[in-house]
Amino acid sequence: MILNIKQSKNIQNRSGQAVLFIVMAICILAFAMLWMADVHRIIFIKDRSQNAGDAAALAGARWQATAMNFVGELNLMHALASSMGDEVSVDVITNTQKRVCFVGPMTGVAAAQQAAKLNGIHVNDDFTAFMKEHADKIENEYATIMNGNSALPEPWPGAWYEYADMVRAIADDGVAAGVDNAIFYTDPMGAHPLLQIEFYEAIRGKNWCWFHFYGMHLLEEYDGYTWWPALPEQEELPLSSPEYLALHLRPIELRLSSIVKEGHPSIEAAEEIGIEITPRELDDTQDEVLENWFFYNSGRWGSWETMLDSSFPIEGDVRDEYNYQGADSVMRVEASSHRLMEDTKAHDTIIWTGAAKPFGYLDGEDNKATPNSVGLVLPAFRSVNLIPIDASSAPDGGSFNMKWRRHREYHLPIYMDAGPSALFPNCMYCRQLATWEIPEFRISGVEWLASNDWKCVISPPGGGPGGGTRHAH
Ligand SMILES: [Zn+2]
Repeated sequence: MILNIKQSKNIQNRSGQAVLFIVMAICILAFAMLWMADVHRIIFIKDRSQNAGDAAALAGARWQATAMNFVGELNLMHALASSMGDEVSVDVITNTQKRVCFVGPMTGVAAAQQAAKLNGIHVNDDFTAFMKEHADKIENEYATIMNGNSALPEPWPGAWYEYADMVRAIADDGVAAGVDNAIFYTDPMGAHPLLQIEFYEAIRGKNWCWFHFYGMHLLEEYDGYTWWPALPEQEELPLSSPEYLALHLRPIELRLSSIVKEGHPSIEAAEEIGIEITPRELDDTQDEVLENWFFYNSGRWGSWETMLDSSFPIEGDVRDEYNYQGADSVMRVEASSHRLMEDTKAHDTIIWTGAAKPFGYLDGEDNKATPNSVGLVLPAFRSVNLIPIDASSAPDGGSFNMKWRRHREYHLPIYMDAGPSALFPNCMYCRQLATWEIPEFRISGVEWLASNDWKCVISPPGGGPGGGTRHAH
């Protein structure tokens, strides 16, 4: 009997352990399945974001190319009309060019929205709200009449209202792709550590090597918020392009004879599209008047050589005909993936920034020349291609990084006035500034570098800690 009781106890124990084991196995399995589902979901959304961001960037660049080719053809039409003394047509052409410089890029922004949405990206409420606010700002600030003139000189009468309408129309449809290389007329231009997103990233990651290379004086000299130099002012901007997908073209006043000369590429470009401009009519320069011709803004259309340092993502020589910066299209899409695991509120935001650029060349006598090689805009663009984000014109941190923008525009000026007590605890950039304000934090960096700075090497873009691209890919 005693034995029997023992046996049955044993059996009970064993079956109890088996149940426990099965329960544990089920838990682990369920956990693994949820985890796998999360991983699949994240990979799927990442793929979708990448496709959408790239498609949006290409759509924007295509419209940039189309607009620049049109402006170029109109330059040639202008030469023809001008050589025949047709002043009315010259006026119409110049006015059309001014508008194309705005309407072309803005159509690109609209096309980018379609591309992003067709690739499964939803409307982004923050982007949409921002563009609606921007439309109001254009009307209420840029176009405000002061002393009989608008606050910002208009490219043509009523331009700011037409521009505001275009921005609002895009916002009303819902914005899915943010123009990450937008340059706003009111953005501060110039370097300042507080406007560099890398500064905040270095604080967050205790990346002392960043300070070693770019800001040792910050670590060593900083002694409180009044130490910061004033935030930079905005620069004088040419207002001949919209803030989104700017073409960086501008009208320049010149006489016809300086545009169309024997052997000038414009003569050949004109022939290519079936216009024959004969320099014969240009002999008499007596009654030639100054007219507006559209040129590449050379400050923006520089060669890439200036960027060929360790941070440039392309190795080797850039082929001559591709060696220009200028117009490009950078689009940010954000998609969130709600996690099945952990608490239900958790989600990952997946950000993809795609960059694309119009490419083309002029057929020179011996070789191909860049589209901007003669300064005058000519129909030269033949393709659009994706480019590395680090080679694009997108500013540090991205123009449609809304948290970053809010920090720069609203939090920084308050902090500069009132100091760390005015930082916003909900803003991650403010939180990093609060860390920066702790003297022990900065001292620990100086101390680490005193014995470890030999460990700091500039890593190739995208790889390794301390290096990395400017965007969260
Ligand atoms: Zn902030």
